[in-house]
Amino acid sequence: MRKIAYLTIDDGPTENTKGHVDYLNSKSIPAIMFLLGSNVEQYRDAAIYAVQHGIIVGNHSYSHPQFSKITLAEAVGEIKRQEALIDQVYAAAGRVRQYKLFRFPYGDKGGANKGQLQEYLKSEGFMKIDSTEITHPSYYENGLDKDWDVFWTFDYREYAIQDGASASDQRNILSYINMMGLWSGGSPLDRFSAEIILIHDHSATEMRFPGYFSELLDHTMAMGIEFTMPRFI
Ligand SMILES: [Zn+2]
Repeated sequence: MRKIAYLTIDDGPTENTKGHVDYLNSKSIPAIMFLLGSNVEQYRDAAIYAVQHGIIVGNHSYSHPQFSKITLAEAVGEIKRQEALIDQVYAAAGRVRQYKLFRFPYGDKGGANKGQLQEYLKSEGFMKIDSTEITHPSYYENGLDKDWDVFWTFDYREYAIQDGASASDQRNILSYINMMGLWSGGSPLDRFSAEIILIHDHSATEMRFPGYFSELLDHTMAMGIEFTMPRFI
């Protein structure tokens, strides 16, 4: 049976984003990049390049706060400020923005403000991934299919690579794919569920583990996982 995954890339753009986009295009991997506003201001050309090369760009807030630790007004401000920048990126790229997508930094849905933030996202026309192909029970037990932000089912946690790690320690990150499943334990390969896979566009990781981005994705595809574009509803 075929196992599919939807690729999401958080925290860009960076100086490495164009290279990532070229790699994705060379492998025909569709992807969603959840960008930070502060990074868009610094690497605006890379964001435009991603859009022009078929990447869907989503909102990951302006400055990556923990939404449970800011007020509702601040949270809405974070989303709005980044929305304006994303609209500018699409306009500069000469492309029509088809999807409004949002991912909370740290997956922190806002604590006491969660309900109001979900209402806000819905009322502003944000979309969610059609979860028909996702069969992980915990995805539904946690209500992730009902929410109007884009969560994930599998995180490489490649950002956990620390400074000073040996080359073998760095390569051990590949074994995480086999060891880690939905949030903790298990393996994405022992189920047929589709996955929403999370990788990060981090300069620090590139310095610690050069080529991590293509290596992790190549490894995933070699395991028989096929990256496809989700439907949005
Ligand atoms: Zn993030």
